[in-house]
Amino acid sequence: MRLSQFHLHTEKETPAEAELISHKLMLKAGMIRKLAAGIYTWSPLGLRVLRKVEAVVREEMDAAGAIELLMPSIQPRELWEETGRWEKFGGQLLKIRDRKDAEYAYGPTHEEVITDFARQELASYKQLPVTFYQVQAKFRDEIRPRFGVMRAREFLMKDAYSFDVDAEGMARSYDRMYAAYTRIFTRLGLRFRAVLADSGAIGGDASQEFHVLADSGEDAIAWSDTGNEGDPAGYAANVETARAAAPGPRPASAEDMRSIATPTQKTCEAVAELMGIPLARTVKSVAVMGHDGEGREQFVLVLVRGDHEANEVKLAKVAGLGDYRMATEAEILAHLGSDPGFLGPIAPAKPVRVVADVEVAAMADFVVGANRPGEHIAGVNWGRDLPEPDTVADVRSVVEGDRAGDGGTLRIMRGIEVGHIFQLGPKYAEAMGCTVLDAAGKAAVPLMGCYGIGVSRIVAAAIEQNHDQAGILWPEAMAPWTVAVCVINPKNDPAVATAAAALHDELAARGIDVVLDDRGLRPGPMFADMELIGIPHRVVVSARGLEAGSFEYRARNAAEAESLDREALLARLA
Ligand code: ATP
Ligand code: MG
Ligand code: MG
Ligand code: MG
Repeated sequence: MRLSQFHLHTEKETPAEAELISHKLMLKAGMIRKLAAGIYTWSPLGLRVLRKVEAVVREEMDAAGAIELLMPSIQPRELWEETGRWEKFGGQLLKIRDRKDAEYAYGPTHEEVITDFARQELASYKQLPVTFYQVQAKFRDEIRPRFGVMRAREFLMKDAYSFDVDAEGMARSYDRMYAAYTRIFTRLGLRFRAVLADSGAIGGDASQEFHVLADSGEDAIAWSDTGNEGDPAGYAANVETARAAAPGPRPASAEDMRSIATPTQKTCEAVAELMGIPLARTVKSVAVMGHDGEGREQFVLVLVRGDHEANEVKLAKVAGLGDYRMATEAEILAHLGSDPGFLGPIAPAKPVRVVADVEVAAMADFVVGANRPGEHIAGVNWGRDLPEPDTVADVRSVVEGDRAGDGGTLRIMRGIEVGHIFQLGPKYAEAMGCTVLDAAGKAAVPLMGCYGIGVSRIVAAAIEQNHDQAGILWPEAMAPWTVAVCVINPKNDPAVATAAAALHDELAARGIDVVLDDRGLRPGPMFADMELIGIPHRVVVSARGLEAGSFEYRARNAAEAESLDREALLARLA
């Protein structure tokens, strides 16, 4: 590849609108251009990186036996009605209408579509196990898209779905994907950690997230220091899961409740999102967990006011609940009466009989609650001016210590969620009437798993982990090119231009992804560009070097350049 024939457009100034370093550097390097909030064009340079990530993901999916297909982005409402998610998915679901007034969603995920495919394609247990995957643009109408492609509205995801006859099979398929994910992030050269995650909102038994470790990460993860950072054997969980698993006294006082149930910022945001509320007012978000008359943990009450970014709901697990639904304020008031006493401290003395299908009762701006019709529920309103809970210190106060149960101490660090795997069980297949004939000739519901990787988010996450003052330091597997051959003064020095082109061709013939910087820039700006866009190896071809029979070589992460003859250079780049 000759850079003079390519479109590279870097910026000298650091863009003011970007907050995160990855966002800044992606703009500065000209990898992405914003079209609208959370919607980006990938430039030719950015696309090279994205494709590299995609290629590793595809190779490992294929190696794990997953089979690629491609599903539509536009999905009919009727399909989403079958699983109840047309309403339940909340505000992230972008709903659109065609000229005949038929309604569609732009796919934020594809469980419904794959299950529809499966019920038409899979007839017998003999076709199982099978795992399908695709790499495709998803759209989620995030309330506050931010950090460039890190939290975009349109983004590229690899999503895979497995179908098995029984639970053991499902667990095997899941384990295969776990192993494939581990290989993917290892090959991409990222420092990452797999952590236990909550599967509450999606359902199923097992769920793990893969996090790229970075201080700027939106998530907090807890891990046991029994092993070391890279040792997946020790306990590791996202904080919501760690907190839910943490043994502790039953909540007896408001203080207890708060310490257990104060959710992360994300959780509060998630609730707002789930409820599809346009949040206009200034923020204060608080949640509390209640318990019933016998002290059983019972429900979560969440107050959300303000302009929050959205996220998924983890409340069900935090409170040890199964499913949940929202009640409107009117519904709640109807059940409570407008008893202001209910706004007092914990009120086991004021049980509320839950009737009809309103499963939660409490008075607040907004409420989410447990799906336990007919039980008594007591509630508490937490007050309106609690400090923001989502700090590492807060989280630590709840989960730190030996709860890991493996003799280690829990440590907290920040992570960027780049992958998420779930054992779904029968949930979607059952809801959508997807069955196969089992060995006995009986109709059986296949057990599913689903497995997502944020392909475009990985690009930003990698930069968060790998950068310096001068720009990006790509891990080799993700670099737009592995080697840059920089030519000094090619226009006035044909011999240098020829020698550089010959070196470029030779490296390319050896299968090295090499770019020839033949733009004729002065060395300073040329080197600055190559450092900014993060090319791992730089070779300078100059008249002086040619005379001495040497090339100037510098690894992107090395302090000094060195002078190498041709053989030594080829050996270094091999
Ligand atoms: P998050 O907690 O960051 O909102 P999620 O849990 O909602 O992510 P999943 O439903 O698990 O996301 O989707 C699978 C993967 O897709 C995530 O692990 C993440 O890497 C990626 N992803 C999700 N939302 C976005 C987004 N808005 N922008 C870029 N990538 C995303
Ligand atoms: Mg989300
Ligand atoms: Mg998540
Ligand atoms: Mg997730």
